[in-house]
Amino acid sequence: MPNIEKRILQLRKELSEHNYRYYVLDQPSISDLEFDLLLKELEKLEAENPQYFDPNSPTQRVGGTITKNFETKTHIHRMYSLDNSYSEEDLKDWEKRVLKVLGVINVEFYCELKYDGASINLSYQNAELKSAVTRGDGFQGDDVTANIKTIRSIPLKLKNTLPNTFEIRGEVILPLEGFNKMNAEREELGYETYANPRNTASGSLKLQDSAEVAKRPLDCLLYHVVGDLPFETHSESLQAAREAGFKVPIESKVCHNMAEVLDFIHHWDKARHDLGYETDGVVVKVNNLHYQEELGYTAKSPRWAIAYKFKAEQALTELLSIDYQVGRTGAITPVANLKPVQLAGTMVKRASVHNADQIAKYDLRIGDYVKVEKGGEIIPKIVGVDLSKRPANVKPIQYITTCPDCGTELVRREGDAKHYCPNHYACPTQIKGRIEHFISRKAMDIEGLGGETVGLLYDAGLIQNYADLYALKAEQVIPLERMAEKSAENMIAGIEKSKEIPFERLLYALGIRYVGETVAKKLAKHFKNIDALMTATFEELIAVDEIGDKIAKSVLEFSQNLLNIQLVDRLKSYGLAFAISEEQLSGASNKLVGEKFVVSGVFTHFSRNELKASIEKNGGVVSSSISSKTDYLIAGDKMGPAKREKAEKLDIPIISEEDYMKMIE
Ligand code: AMP
Ligand code: ZN
Repeated sequence: MPNIEKRILQLRKELSEHNYRYYVLDQPSISDLEFDLLLKELEKLEAENPQYFDPNSPTQRVGGTITKNFETKTHIHRMYSLDNSYSEEDLKDWEKRVLKVLGVINVEFYCELKYDGASINLSYQNAELKSAVTRGDGFQGDDVTANIKTIRSIPLKLKNTLPNTFEIRGEVILPLEGFNKMNAEREELGYETYANPRNTASGSLKLQDSAEVAKRPLDCLLYHVVGDLPFETHSESLQAAREAGFKVPIESKVCHNMAEVLDFIHHWDKARHDLGYETDGVVVKVNNLHYQEELGYTAKSPRWAIAYKFKAEQALTELLSIDYQVGRTGAITPVANLKPVQLAGTMVKRASVHNADQIAKYDLRIGDYVKVEKGGEIIPKIVGVDLSKRPANVKPIQYITTCPDCGTELVRREGDAKHYCPNHYACPTQIKGRIEHFISRKAMDIEGLGGETVGLLYDAGLIQNYADLYALKAEQVIPLERMAEKSAENMIAGIEKSKEIPFERLLYALGIRYVGETVAKKLAKHFKNIDALMTATFEELIAVDEIGDKIAKSVLEFSQNLLNIQLVDRLKSYGLAFAISEEQLSGASNKLVGEKFVVSGVFTHFSRNELKASIEKNGGVVSSSISSKTDYLIAGDKMGPAKREKAEKLDIPIISEEDYMKMIE
């Protein structure tokens, strides 16, 4: 075999192993940088030697195929629905029917969570992925293979063979962390946010550009191996799938009787909130495959399985009024005031409505009874109206036409879901909002200065913009109401200290529209200092990876405005870090390579994000939920008991932030 071919095959093998360690086991053994270098090498070799093309090479994960119309494919084995149950009685009735058909007095069950996403059928042949088809109507679905290949946790080549030909079914999901991040980015860009992870996951599978799909943090959890199987039980088949490289959640269990099934259900009804992805119930399956065959199917669903649905966390309450909040960019966000109602353990008084279209969509009226739901987001949202409860005297909502703060007429730009107050440089809420953004945790993180004090300083005429902060003197601040000498001095010291904040965070702090944390990092890395950025042309801006027209225009709007030029000049004169530092260019270490951390609670030396950044900078990996793969749980103050319990159960060391600091010393 020629050397080049050997090297290509070796790289493919290594990369898929690293891919597996990272996305399936959550236990990487090399750094992202090392991975990228290997991938680049393979890309180069493949480009130079097209005769070795392989559609299942790790390089194919980035996508790039455009599908105009997805081909319809008939399922070899029909994809059934599941019968639902909502109570213990339902489950016990189902058990009785099962025992009667089988003529036995007891069977083993297998309990799994019901993953909430889009179902997919994967076909493998000779240990390679051949095709991926959506459920469709159960008989036939869409061939979305190109999109599925971009999901890193789905193996393109298997580590062990199951039968030579088989199908495996699973759920494509969007974990909450990724979902919230996608939404935060959309919010930042002024786009409408996605309603829920499930719809976003299934929508993603139907995108025409697979490169777009590759950018979404999708995952795939497997739950059913189909085919002529050499196994006795469902649990064995899943274990074999796990060993072949599939992501089969460990949150599942063999139960020896219905009492154990109910324990499983009760446990996950509570524990599901810590999972990191959405689940709406538990699926109980008869574990023995021969029994499954004997039980067979109804017209719609298997007789050997049943779904138990958790109670939806929804509440019905009265819509009292709508408030309109003005953001620092002038974006108007309507917020609903509700008659307080208990929902998933907390009292809910407000819910987000997002924008005018949402109000129109539900035809919301003041006095209506609205359904509120808690999704993965922090603020609950309105998901519907109970029209049968609509009182006679409801009032239509008159969406505001002028800014609630400065009275300027609102505008709505083409393609934006939100209304804006265009009085950018004189609208008090926007000015204060920009200063608040500047000092916020992820930006300059100024100790001793909070949103309330900003309001105080602004109202007293002491600051008009964020540069004014650096000219403040303790003597000016002390006379203000509620300002003690000590706190004034702390604040001034905090402001002074913020001059050391690295360039990328300062850039984010400037509050340029559409320049969120991620974009700020990209710009800082590319331009390296503020002068290069402030003089960049449109062409130079859009040449940066992932910077589009919209962001480029916004940066230009900022950099060409005289007021901003003066602001930046003043900040420079105060000595803020307007360039990437030497340390930042190096500074990283490999001390934590291969270690996986979960971070929980509040810390004294770091903000939570700083701690995460520190772990990554030293080569470690941060994940959001504890699993058997976690190496350390760093526990801060106010850590939830569930996390501690889980770590103890799995024997994972729980360390303090001081312990952590010793690790990277
Ligand atoms: P339904 O759509 O309510 O009829 O429920 C059936 C769907 O549940 C299946 O098509 C699967 O996509 C999904 N599902 C999620 N988790 C599981 C699981 N652990 N076992 C079987 N089906 C599951
Ligand atoms: Zn205004």
